[in-house]
Amino acid sequence: MSKKNLFLSINEWCNLDCTYCNVVKTPKKLSFKDCQRAIIYFINFFKGSDGYNIYFMWWEPMLSYPDIQKCILFLEKLSLKLGKPISTFMPTNGTLLTEQSLSFFREHNHQISLSIDSLDGDYDYRNLRDRDDSSSVPVLLDKLDLFQEYSDILRIKIVVMPDMVDTILSTFQELRKLWFQFINVQPAHGVLWTEQQQKVYIDTLLRIKFISEWIKNLKSTTFKWTQRAENDGPQSIGCAKGRSEIFIDSYGQVYVCDAFLAYPPEKRKKYAHDNLYNPNFNRDRFEEYRDWKYCNNTILGNDRDITHCETCDETKSCSTLCNALPVNDTEYDRDVLMSNFHLYRKLDKVWI
Ligand code: SF4
Ligand code: SF4
Repeated sequence: MSKKNLFLSINEWCNLDCTYCNVVKTPKKLSFKDCQRAIIYFINFFKGSDGYNIYFMWWEPMLSYPDIQKCILFLEKLSLKLGKPISTFMPTNGTLLTEQSLSFFREHNHQISLSIDSLDGDYDYRNLRDRDDSSSVPVLLDKLDLFQEYSDILRIKIVVMPDMVDTILSTFQELRKLWFQFINVQPAHGVLWTEQQQKVYIDTLLRIKFISEWIKNLKSTTFKWTQRAENDGPQSIGCAKGRSEIFIDSYGQVYVCDAFLAYPPEKRKKYAHDNLYNPNFNRDRFEEYRDWKYCNNTILGNDRDITHCETCDETKSCSTLCNALPVNDTEYDRDVLMSNFHLYRKLDKVWI
């Protein structure tokens, strides 16, 4: 039986203000006690599982570093008590990582996905919220030596904006040359990708893929995925919603997956099937939202359906698309959603 995943929003705030961010920021956060409650709920929900993955994710988890430390120590004890492996993960924008926190994370085998979209100090799609909107890249550049020391626990994520598509290869090369072995590349969601930009994105991934020297040592799910696809076709993974994952937000609401996080909390909660502080499992909601898909968007309404694939095989792209959907109605833009859909469908077929 595969491990089950908890996506836990330990807080809903961020010190950056990225152009492509699709989450609504609020000051709400979970205390360590709340996190313990969430973890116990999750373990009970998937009682029979052989093991568990806890992701402290979305927004900026490092803003809750002291509570993450406590959670990791708690989870180590829980793992021993249950006799089951529990792994922990965290994406971060990296600006708050320090020698002390990285050392703690290494000691406790906590895996980190570090966002570095660009090494250009003027890059302005990821700006600091409280520093006159200046680029966050110089903050990361100052920490490059530190990151290099901890490259064993850092996985790099490059998010590509459509108008930056010509820079993917050079950013990738620079990061490879520096030290990193594990690099993922992904397109920004919720922004318009023209046909031409989609073409350049795919062509660039193919170029990277065919530079065999890189591929040999490359530990990247982006490229493992395409390598596998070349031999076996797209990997059908099925939808994990409620079957092998749940999402718990900072308000203690429990959802089938994290596709609902882009709603502001007051709208989001109507899709929750339970609440940590007043547990009352709502099976109807659980079943309804477990079956919800980006391509068949019953939440946005019948007039907002998105094209279906001829043969539905629920690839990795499908869940990525779902998580990327800017579900806030006011931001809905059919052209944007369709362009994201077409790009991901092409990514599924990149081996052709
Ligand atoms: S770092 Fe992540 S959560 Fe923060 S603004 Fe950027 S995309 Fe959003
Ligand atoms: S996008 Fe296509 S493959 Fe994915 S769930 Fe929808 S119909 Fe199936």
